[in-house]
Amino acid sequence: MNVPVLVINCGSSSIKYALIDTDPEAPRLAGIAERLGSPDACLKGKSSAGDKFEQALPNADHTQALSAILERLEGRTPGAIGHRIVHGGEKFTQAALIDASVVSAIQATAALAPLHNPANLAGIAATQKVFPQLPQVAVFDTAFHQSLSPTAYRYALPESLYAEHGIRRYGFHGTSHAFVSQRAATLSARGAGGWLTAHLGNGCSTCAVWNNQSQDTSMGLTPLEGLVMGTRSGDVDPGLHAHLHRQLGWSLDKIDDVLNKQSGLLGLSGLTNDMREVEEAAEQGHEGAMLALDVFCYRIAKSLAALSCALPSLDGVIFTGGIGENSPIVRRRVVGLLPHFGFALNEIRNDAMIRGQEGKLDSDQHTGPEVWVIPTDEEGRIAMETCHCLEVQA
Ligand code: ADP
Repeated sequence: MNVPVLVINCGSSSIKYALIDTDPEAPRLAGIAERLGSPDACLKGKSSAGDKFEQALPNADHTQALSAILERLEGRTPGAIGHRIVHGGEKFTQAALIDASVVSAIQATAALAPLHNPANLAGIAATQKVFPQLPQVAVFDTAFHQSLSPTAYRYALPESLYAEHGIRRYGFHGTSHAFVSQRAATLSARGAGGWLTAHLGNGCSTCAVWNNQSQDTSMGLTPLEGLVMGTRSGDVDPGLHAHLHRQLGWSLDKIDDVLNKQSGLLGLSGLTNDMREVEEAAEQGHEGAMLALDVFCYRIAKSLAALSCALPSLDGVIFTGGIGENSPIVRRRVVGLLPHFGFALNEIRNDAMIRGQEGKLDSDQHTGPEVWVIPTDEEGRIAMETCHCLEVQA
């Protein structure tokens, strides 16, 4: 089924939207309603002519923001809504048509994503009010990683924690890893073999994909595990929490806040969570920024090397996300830390890659594993999965 899909990504005080048409030539309409529930609430976006707009929506809630978004669709009518849902637990291995049982299942998983799933549910409730006639589909960040084997998803903890409380590795950024690995399988002569993907944005994760299926990934029970991110620490010693509590008297809430919001590039550099600023400061000799860049790149390389164990053979690595797509420095340093993989990065191609471009960065005649940049399209993938889900249901 091919219908224009309104993709909704709902946070506790924001709604990101994109209207994605079946006609690939039709321009996408996209924007974000922010600071909902506050006097500063506003809707920002771009019209199909490319003009930017900003509209104040003082104290608007999610439903009022959606009504304002509807006004901005320039008369184009969506045929379905696709919702990005962060956590689908073990229940959802693919997108699901939303009904009362799907809503209860998302509610039941809220303990695993207390910040995200309730906000996603608020988005579903609001869209059902504003678009009661439209089919709504839930597309889960975790679903792509449901192909992991227990070897990859179990922590070495007592079995009851898994069986009774769902404590296991789930992985996130599934729509992005799925999109870029499938795109590489289409673009590369090597097809769908063994790909390592690095999604590097404000959140960062790696994934090992074999034959279009996720085999392992760096994020775990929560999106805190794995790589160094903008403000998230990624992996730390699991004994750290007890140590900070016992030695510094920190509460669990404080530890959670420090690891999620004050660490990563921000914590290491002491300056910023933004990679562009880290790179500029490192260039000028700022020691914290240089260390942040070193640790960031080293941990990506280490993670890719570890995940390669999940692949029978390696066809290439794919960089995506704001940093992966736009930072030749990070790509060069990560590839440089993996000499034993036999990559051959062409420096000129790496430096010449323009924002939004996709392509292979290898030297000519290179026959080893490839290096690709593929801009991610999570909204496009959600729209595609929404249409596919409706087709299956029809
Ligand atoms: P999100 O995860 O919120 O979707 P993005 O994928 O947009 O975020 O990634 C944001 C990150 O990309 C920021 O750290 C930003 O500094 C970085 N970034 C964007 N452009 C560049 C660039 N030209 N060079 C280096 N980093 C960049």
